[in-house]
Amino acid sequence: MSGEAPERETALPDGWELVVGLEVHVELSTATKLFCGCANRFGDEPNTNVCPVCLGLPGSLPVVNAAAVDFAMRLGRALGCEVRPAVFARKNYFYPDMPKDYQISQYDQPTNIDGRLELADGHVVGIERAHIEEDTGKTTHVGGGGRIHDASYALVDYNRAGVPLVEIVSRPDIRTAEQARAYVRELRAILLSVGVSDARMEEGSMRVDANVSVRPSGSDELRTRCEIKNLSSLRSLGRAITFEAGRHVDLWSSGERPRQETRHWDEAQGRTTPGRSKEDAEDYRYFQDPDLVPLVPSAEQVAAIDAELPVLPAARRAELLAVGAGAVSASDAALLVERDQDELVRAAVSGGAEPGLTATRVANDLAVDDWSRVTPASLAALIGLESSGQMTATQAKQVLAEMVETGDEPASIAERRGFQAMAGDDLAATVDEVIAANPGEWARYRDGDDTGRKKLSGFFIGQVMRATRGRADGAAVNRLLQERAEPA
Ligand code: ZN
Ligand code: MN
Repeated sequence: MSGEAPERETALPDGWELVVGLEVHVELSTATKLFCGCANRFGDEPNTNVCPVCLGLPGSLPVVNAAAVDFAMRLGRALGCEVRPAVFARKNYFYPDMPKDYQISQYDQPTNIDGRLELADGHVVGIERAHIEEDTGKTTHVGGGGRIHDASYALVDYNRAGVPLVEIVSRPDIRTAEQARAYVRELRAILLSVGVSDARMEEGSMRVDANVSVRPSGSDELRTRCEIKNLSSLRSLGRAITFEAGRHVDLWSSGERPRQETRHWDEAQGRTTPGRSKEDAEDYRYFQDPDLVPLVPSAEQVAAIDAELPVLPAARRAELLAVGAGAVSASDAALLVERDQDELVRAAVSGGAEPGLTATRVANDLAVDDWSRVTPASLAALIGLESSGQMTATQAKQVLAEMVETGDEPASIAERRGFQAMAGDDLAATVDEVIAANPGEWARYRDGDDTGRKKLSGFFIGQVMRATRGRADGAAVNRLLQERAEPA
């Protein structure tokens, strides 16, 4: 085995089924916080974006940020939710990063309910609710490796306190760790396309908790679940779910049962460890916040939001697949939409470029942050040179890289670099020379079956590439080999 082990889908033992629901906290990218005028900005000097309201000082009063409510409703509609009259509630608990000792959230009357999210493979996950709440401050434990129990002291930054969040709660419709990752990827794509959050897991503007349980396959019961908190990457999410599900199967199989509790994912150890035993809702003593009026969106407001919603990722993938009429692969389509390159590809295709090759070239070789210099027309020209055999795949990749840097036309880049696929008689002559120099391999190729030929064609293409310093088109070499093996 070499290198890092690939992400593996670890199936549960026969007879067991995984049940996962996700709770995702998303910071909204409004200019200001949810209930005050402080800046909502990541990375500022600690405790500089604070005021009496978000510090919870006595006598201060919250005023709801209309933009945050609008963002939350837009997200709700993008998730197919019903947008409803909502009430803010106080969720009471003590923690130093929450200066009021309660969090303003929504409880039994959230803004968005009953939505759905369709994964790239067509699996649909129900959305139970997407409610608005405020974020807490950020605690940093200093010393003892950053762990709370061994720390010498703690620092609190209240810049994040009061930042608007939407918490999206899925139904327990997720059946594999890969589906959980796909759900988060899709949700992120929706957030970016609606423009309500930058959804950066690594900066904490998108934070995932996973509720994990198992049950006998085919049953519809919901067994005791554990909530794994704050998974900060897709990789951790998948690994944590797989570990936790295995732990539950072991417990049930040996006649024990898991305790309902929150657990933490230890990335280094590759396992979950117990946190506090999970509070029930009663423990938070929710009640309506007397300082805030209910949110009652009008039908016109919701209609205006619907009218402005952008085309969502699922529809964009479908458009791309339709343009290619089967030539674009589902994985290329997903990647291109995720990187916002679907419009570029569709425009190049309407400019005459071959759809499958365009999608593949962009998906594989345009994974850069800034591709603004590549226009649909120049991309179409590049693909034209490649698909007509005037340039090899290797050359096309190099030209594309230079187009990203300079924005020059592919034809002039190719000329400057002396790129020109060797074609016609020159190439045929080189192929014949290589055949003559390798009589043993040639005999095995000529007399071999399809599988044998496939192996040896790699050898011959390699030899021709070496002889032409990469200027040969592999597909053309393959055709010439076949012609010579089976003369008409
Ligand atoms: Zn403030
Ligand atoms: Mn929450």
